[in-house]
Amino acid sequence: MRPSLLDPLFASPSSLPGIGPKNAQLLDRLLGGAEHPARVLDVLMHLPYDGVDRRNRPTIAQAPIGAVSTIKVRVAEHRPPRAKGPYRVLTEDGTGDLTLIFFRANSGWVEKALPVGATRWVSGLVEIFDYYKQMVHPDRILDEEGLKTLPPVEPVYGLTEGLFPRVMAKAAAGALARLPVLPEWLDENFVRANGWASFGEALARVHEPQAPDDLKPESNFFARLAYDELLSHQLALRLVRRKMQVLSGRPQPGDGALRAKILAALPFALTGDQTQALAEISADQGSDKRMLRLLQGDVGSGKTVVALLAMAQAIEAGRQAALMAPTEILARQHFDTIKPLAEAAGLTVALATGRDKATERRATLAALASGALNIVVGTHALVQDDFVYHDLGLAVIDEQHRFGVQQRLALGEKGVGVDVLAMTATPIPRTLALAYFGDMDFSALREKPPGRQPITTRTVNAERIDEVVAGLGRALKDGARVYWVCPLVAESEESDLAAAEARAEDLRKFFGDKVGLVHGQMKGRDKDAAMEAFAAGETKILVATTVIEVGVNVPEATIMVIEHAERFGLAQLHQLRGRVGRGDKKSSCILLYAGPVGETAKARLEILRQTEDGFRIAEEDLRLRGEGEILGLRQSGAPGFKIARLDIHADLLRFARDDAEKFLADDPDLRGERGQKLRLLLYLFERDTALKLLRAG
Ligand code: ADP
Ligand code: MG
Repeated sequence: MRPSLLDPLFASPSSLPGIGPKNAQLLDRLLGGAEHPARVLDVLMHLPYDGVDRRNRPTIAQAPIGAVSTIKVRVAEHRPPRAKGPYRVLTEDGTGDLTLIFFRANSGWVEKALPVGATRWVSGLVEIFDYYKQMVHPDRILDEEGLKTLPPVEPVYGLTEGLFPRVMAKAAAGALARLPVLPEWLDENFVRANGWASFGEALARVHEPQAPDDLKPESNFFARLAYDELLSHQLALRLVRRKMQVLSGRPQPGDGALRAKILAALPFALTGDQTQALAEISADQGSDKRMLRLLQGDVGSGKTVVALLAMAQAIEAGRQAALMAPTEILARQHFDTIKPLAEAAGLTVALATGRDKATERRATLAALASGALNIVVGTHALVQDDFVYHDLGLAVIDEQHRFGVQQRLALGEKGVGVDVLAMTATPIPRTLALAYFGDMDFSALREKPPGRQPITTRTVNAERIDEVVAGLGRALKDGARVYWVCPLVAESEESDLAAAEARAEDLRKFFGDKVGLVHGQMKGRDKDAAMEAFAAGETKILVATTVIEVGVNVPEATIMVIEHAERFGLAQLHQLRGRVGRGDKKSSCILLYAGPVGETAKARLEILRQTEDGFRIAEEDLRLRGEGEILGLRQSGAPGFKIARLDIHADLLRFARDDAEKFLADDPDLRGERGQKLRLLLYLFERDTALKLLRAG
């Protein structure tokens, strides 16, 4: 049971002051997940990625151009728009004049906010136009009283369409007020030695920063929170691992007959890496220990085939196999790859997603229970209660970090001594993999299957976007298919969706209905329809936010355009690029950047031009990042993490690993004084399902 101390954090955001049903719904869209709707806790853990410094209070004459200032002005004159044009308000302060500009303004509102003769504080970006200093749509217009409420640094949050920054800030403030006083779960000496604040103080400081540095992921406040997250992860991993080891495996040696048939049906030979990985997996399966192995390899490196051959071994041993993918699209794609090969070996395969017709579902369940079905591929539907397996021997989990601990475990618990093979296309640098994934065994596919055409990668200044579009026109005539990726936008008011929609609109001017759009806020069915139209060639350009699925395979797609490439992490760019170059035609990737771009950012993009080796890219990414060179958006945490980042918090990860080991050695069931406190931590970072293992075992 969750300690009641934490209950206020698990209420709906609609319980926060000033958050009505509509905004609560938007918060849910932004922060809610498949497993539960958004809660106050999710608001707390949604940290700002940037801040606007409002402390600078110059005179008009001193106000720097191109920076945000908060300036005390006297309102001199109103100039309502003539015909078109903006509404102008002239102000001065004795040192100079500042024109406030309002487009499409409600004049009644402007008159009320800025009465002639009144003194006001205006805060916003100061620019110069026709030799005059101006501020377009001040972020804030305040009187002396109001100024007292202006925070020194205003946090900037990731948002969703329709959710306004101030609502988010209000929600965060309300959520902070709900945070109970929590006991310190870390070693006090360790906290002191690092100069860290308590968990609660650190959260408060990040949501209510006193200086822009407080918002840097390198800051002490962030580090404290990242450490807590990493520690909770390490504790959970250890608890899971312990449970897995207690449940011993069953040897599943197999006689190789099915594998031979599948190999014979393959139109290619396995690569050396595939053969090696398969040998490692096969040895695990044959032993009486339970397999818990992670297969890493870039998109297209051939993981699915390896998984299928492992499945065949389980079936040779008289058992069944299941493959679970995080989305329907991925599940379907795996199914399409596996089905013909499996059937060539005389195996039965079914697909199970959340959308199956009732009759299909019944047939699948019956065949699964009777053992008539050898392989089932699906989404997390596979762990639902009505999925009863005759004798599950192997659980393959694709993109495992996208599942909760609970779901991951649940599939392994659908049988006795089930071997687990996790797969990921996110290359984790070798130096970190062990600490990151706990004590899993690893296999890696580094080499690409032969016959792949290399991808030509170019970096292009966004000012030359017209040339890029013209180039696409020529390529489309030759039958090319194009992904166009729009990133998260920097301006807090806009959403990534708006940017993608605007780009799609733009491209439609040139290419009409050949342009498709897919984004994160579409319903699953619409998303699939958009992907399918692209795969089928009904649309030729697919504009997408970064939601497009990592593993989605459209071999005809040969061009990848990524806007604001400088805002992405290397690993992310690499993943996106991996969606082209999957067929036998030459592919290219165009990284559009908006200048000016710093040296490090240039070096990062350069690495992408040099190599397609995901592991090397991951290592370089780690080496190159660090200093606050990351332009635009801060990237969200590492996969599976909200706060911690492998590039910045790698050292903490090692400490967290040792700490978790020590804490659990002292108190294996977390029943002692510190153990009780650590339980709070597991709830706060949603690793509490691991606690169920304690109770069960
Ligand atoms: P992943 O799951 O790692 O993204 P897949 O297993 O889907 O990669 O493989 C991508 C494509 O490469 C598939 O079309 C597959 O048939 C093909 N492929 C896999 N292994 C080889 C190989 N050894 N030689 C040639 N093609 C291969
Ligand atoms: Mg695959």
